[in-house]
Amino acid sequence: MESRYLENFVQSVLDATGGAGGKTYVLGGDGRYFNDRAAQVILRMAAANGAARVIVGRDALLSTPAASHLIRKRASDGGFILSASHNPGGEDQDFGVKFNTPNGGPAPEGVTEAIFARTRTITGYRILEAGDVDLSHTGETRLGDMVVEVVDPVADYAALMESLFDFPAIRRMFAGGFTMRFDAMHAVTGPYARAILEGALGAAPGSVVNATPLPDFGGGHPDPNPTWAKPLYDLMLSPDAPDFGAASDGDGDRNMILGRGIYVSPSDSLAVIAANAHLAPGYANGLKGVARSMPTSGAVDRVAAAMDLPCHETPTGWKFFGNLLDAGMATICGEESFGTGSDHVREKDGLWAVLMWLNILAATGRPVQALMAAHWSRFGRNWYSRHDYEGIETARADALMDGLRARLADLPGQVVAGLVVTAADEFAYDDPVDRSHTAAQGVRVMFAGGARAVFRLSGTGTSGATLRVYLERFDGDAPDPAADPQAMLAPVIAAAAEIAGIARHTGRSAPDVVT
Ligand code: MG
Repeated sequence: MESRYLENFVQSVLDATGGAGGKTYVLGGDGRYFNDRAAQVILRMAAANGAARVIVGRDALLSTPAASHLIRKRASDGGFILSASHNPGGEDQDFGVKFNTPNGGPAPEGVTEAIFARTRTITGYRILEAGDVDLSHTGETRLGDMVVEVVDPVADYAALMESLFDFPAIRRMFAGGFTMRFDAMHAVTGPYARAILEGALGAAPGSVVNATPLPDFGGGHPDPNPTWAKPLYDLMLSPDAPDFGAASDGDGDRNMILGRGIYVSPSDSLAVIAANAHLAPGYANGLKGVARSMPTSGAVDRVAAAMDLPCHETPTGWKFFGNLLDAGMATICGEESFGTGSDHVREKDGLWAVLMWLNILAATGRPVQALMAAHWSRFGRNWYSRHDYEGIETARADALMDGLRARLADLPGQVVAGLVVTAADEFAYDDPVDRSHTAAQGVRVMFAGGARAVFRLSGTGTSGATLRVYLERFDGDAPDPAADPQAMLAPVIAAAAEIAGIARHTGRSAPDVVT
């Protein structure tokens, strides 16, 4: 909001991507505070820089996956997405501008580095002196010589979903009394979920709650997890639970899945989708492969092995999946931080995951709990949890990671908290598509019997670092669906604490957040 900050950033993006002359862009955002103002600035700047056309969602709204789809469908030169994802919105909260490239995906590092370099040399920007464009109605208008095309933000995306999933079968399931609640968290998926779930699929009116995007998201964190979507989580584990529950984040790319009496972890959701995607018409010919971020559990690896599918393990960040999707090496991707998607766009996609689940439930006729029990009895269960230690002094967090790195060679063969260490390394990734090398992506410690602990830092800066510890143990013997993952993981939790010296380095006896 500071004078000329947005303008300098947008001009740097245009300059670093070869200028706007004659180009077509997509524009929209998640409806948070400043979304409408930033959209008007970007339109006037695109016009002044010679763009031919900007396709903008009505009221400057577009979910991130819907923007990715429009960028691809209209063969545009990229898009501006106004969002700070799952972070809170409002005058004193977060705002962001993302630039996606013509493949519909987040700008790769080469592009973002060029943009950053341009921000250090920029000496001016171009903007048209003009009033606001009316974005409240669909249709075409002109801004200078540029066409502004206002589109229904939902229509193209809804048509894409209908082409992928068995809408008649899902409609019959709802007509037969199936109940659900979708919590849009006062963010951008509200209009999409209402149109698709209640409109096209016949879910009961009121199934979608918090459906109107608000500039401050109602004061909440639009982050679909058991902490920030607690009302939905509590409902689904109560006697009044509907058959199915789901939520999405600020810009619509994340999802949380629940059934009556059961929470489905994102790692398990990815595995269930991989095992059952062929039930959806858009995936009936099978999958080219699957991919997960390194810290995501190995549940999908079990499915891939059983179904003879290539399985890729990437660093955290959707751009690594984008390369695999572009190259036709994977169809389904997912990460433990509530992101799942496929090659239909180049972003993760919250509502896509919800519709995939509805398609699977309609095709199998099984409730979520029974589906999960059957999945675990067929593939075994990867007990999984993430422990976050937040706001650690950066020097202490670095010391913990350095201590781990120094011990990597000594750990194999040691017995820690009753577990035998079989391997230890720091994850690095050689991208099979663009041949780039990405190092230092987290320390992995493997134990005998298929258990694993992963250590990563995130959010370094003035407020300190967050230590994320990812804990996992494979259980191949008809695991008890009702068991507590924390209890099942107790030996791995103890071994991780001892190996990393978590209490000694952080001064903490317990994590701040457990998911
Ligand atoms: Mg997001």
